[in-house]
Amino acid sequence: MLIPCFACESRFRPDEFFLACHDYHRGMDLVAWTCPRCGNRDDLRVLPDALGFGYPRRGRFDVQDRYKVPGLRRHRQDLRLDISLNQDVWHVHTRLHRLTAGRSPARA
Ligand SMILES: [Zn+2]
Repeated sequence: MLIPCFACESRFRPDEFFLACHDYHRGMDLVAWTCPRCGNRDDLRVLPDALGFGYPRRGRFDVQDRYKVPGLRRHRQDLRLDISLNQDVWHVHTRLHRLTAGRSPARA
C-alpha cells in the first residue's frame, strides 16, 4: 500500500508517510504533512480506513477528498494523535508553542 503526495505524485510507504506528519490540531482534528520529496505542505484528517484531504474553513476542517487506507485507525489524545495501521503506531504531537503564544514576556 502506497500513499501519494498530491503535489509531486511521489508515493510513500505508510511508515514514510506518517513520519512526515506533524502538528496535530485537535480543535480542527487535522494533522499537517510535509512531503519529504517536494516539501509541499498539506493538511489532512486521519479517518477510520481513510485519509481525508481538504481545507480549513470557518474554524473547521472540510474534507474534500478521501484516500482509502484500509486498516487505518486513530486515537485522539489531549496533545497527541496516535495513528495506527496494522501493527505500527505513529504519534503526532501538538505544537506546544501555539498554546503559549498568548503569554506575555517575562521581562519587558
Ligand atoms: Zn511531494
